[in-house]
Amino acid sequence: TLPTSTHFIRNIIDEDNRTGKWGGRVETRFPPEPNGYLHIGHAKSICLNFGLARDYGGTCHLRFDDTNPEKEAQEYVNAICDSVRWLGFDWGSHIYYASDYFEKLYEFAEYLIKKGKAYVDSLSAEEIREFRGTLNQPGKNSPYRDRTVEENLDLFRRMRAGEFPDGAHVLRAKIDMTSPNINMRDPVIYRIRHIHHQRTGDQWCIYPMYDYTHCISDALERITHSLCTLEFEDHRPLYDWVLDQLEGQVPCHPQQIEFARLNLTFCVMSKRKLIELVEGRFVDGWDDPRMNTLAGVRRRGFTPESIRLFAERIGISKAGSWIDMTILEDCLREDLNEHALRRIAVLKPLKLVIDNFPEDLEEECYAPNHPQKPEWGKRVLPLTKTVYIERDDFMEVPSKGYFRLSPGAEVRLRYAYIIKCVSVVKNDQGEIEEIHCTYDPETKSGTAGADTRKVKGNIHWLSTKHAQSVEVRIYDRLFNHPYPDTGDKDFKAYLNPHSKQMTTAHVEPSLLEAEAEQRFQFERHGYFVADRVETQPGKPVFNRAVTLRDTWGK
Ligand code: ATP
Ligand code: MG
Ligand code: MG
Repeated sequence: TLPTSTHFIRNIIDEDNRTGKWGGRVETRFPPEPNGYLHIGHAKSICLNFGLARDYGGTCHLRFDDTNPEKEAQEYVNAICDSVRWLGFDWGSHIYYASDYFEKLYEFAEYLIKKGKAYVDSLSAEEIREFRGTLNQPGKNSPYRDRTVEENLDLFRRMRAGEFPDGAHVLRAKIDMTSPNINMRDPVIYRIRHIHHQRTGDQWCIYPMYDYTHCISDALERITHSLCTLEFEDHRPLYDWVLDQLEGQVPCHPQQIEFARLNLTFCVMSKRKLIELVEGRFVDGWDDPRMNTLAGVRRRGFTPESIRLFAERIGISKAGSWIDMTILEDCLREDLNEHALRRIAVLKPLKLVIDNFPEDLEEECYAPNHPQKPEWGKRVLPLTKTVYIERDDFMEVPSKGYFRLSPGAEVRLRYAYIIKCVSVVKNDQGEIEEIHCTYDPETKSGTAGADTRKVKGNIHWLSTKHAQSVEVRIYDRLFNHPYPDTGDKDFKAYLNPHSKQMTTAHVEPSLLEAEAEQRFQFERHGYFVADRVETQPGKPVFNRAVTLRDTWGK
């Protein structure tokens, strides 16, 4: 469990509980439209809504806002359920679909017509836009605005019966064409769409609009606090107007409360843009480990705990702002620093021969599975005459401040001995092929002689005889611009061409047994996960989730 910080929404709920406004009930909902995969922005809303229900002993509904059949699909419904569950939340029996309310929504529309609060308009979409006016210019009434109740009912019923083509008529709320709030200028609440719906099939050819559907769905489910992002602040008067009109017809009038959406650097946070990346094959699907979808960050190696910690850390407020990607990455580092086994991997190998090491000796060295958790035990790393080290851990001409291996220099082979570089072997092209060292048998880690001499460098290694080859993907940020969708160019111009690099790494033999989604720290490199899709028994594929420290741009 996480420490819970308070915020203005909790204050509102506390006050409601004090005054007894909802009789102590707290019911929230997470209302995605099934038109794409969830992204990390949705995680903020999920953690908020499900978190409040958990903390106040209430319930949180998972509701699909499925009123736009042309863009929606069952695939998305399934993916959304998976992601919410993965994040650790449970809606129990409280799963709902706005489409389940189509009949009720229709009845309420007739009720509004009978009350003189809705009318069928026959202007074209373009005329409606023109008549709506602008911020500085009031709208004009449609010539159809004063149709009689009988005429409106007749037309609306015939709309439902399928007598008219798409766009012939719409149903509009009759509010005020001169309202300073454009959302209140007789918003459209139903449109004609002869299109198959993934749940209701061909039962309907008129579909209700979001603003009309959402508040009624909330009310029918007896939601108490309807939390949404700030863009909906200007829609709140309409939310309240609809429910005021339906007073006595619906069980309650929930309170809409807005909070700032999450904007995260180096990401795009809109399903439309994420779809563009998938369909244009800029990434390998919705769950590409570089995508900031929840399916993507999961495959990348993020844990649900790290995402929940992130949501807690960024908090909830009314002030919109950008959150730095390093905050999300640090949450994963914190989680995995504590929970991931340590292992050795050599990503860019260079062969090193220990000249004075006995030819056939396999000497056992011991490496802790976690440096702060002795109870996790140690594993054996056999040392042999020839080992792999990282190419970057050797420099023929060391730069200033370079404390790793170079000709004549000494370093410690981590968990083993101090070695000294005595010569370098190059190929015909002048590239370094292997390096030769001697070791000091008195300096083994964990023995009395270990500390006799201090060396600054401490490098990892693997016996060439024991190392195993595995596929590793070195992932980096998908965009090379912190605000990819606010630049001068299309956001896709800021894709980072180096965001995915494949390599074959040498690893400890035990890593061959890694299970899908098992996470490790590869010492000195970062945190890696066995890819949940491509890992097979005995043949893992590793994804780099995050480096050990923030090295972006350094
Ligand atoms: P997108 O523009 O990416 O399609 P959306 O808001 O249209 O996002 P919905 O499926 O309608 O997507 O969103 C479901 C819920 O998630 C809504 O309550 C919405 O306010 C919330 N949400 C979406 N994006 C964010 C975000 N970046 N930060 C916080 N909450 C978000
Ligand atoms: Mg939406
Ligand atoms: Mg949207």
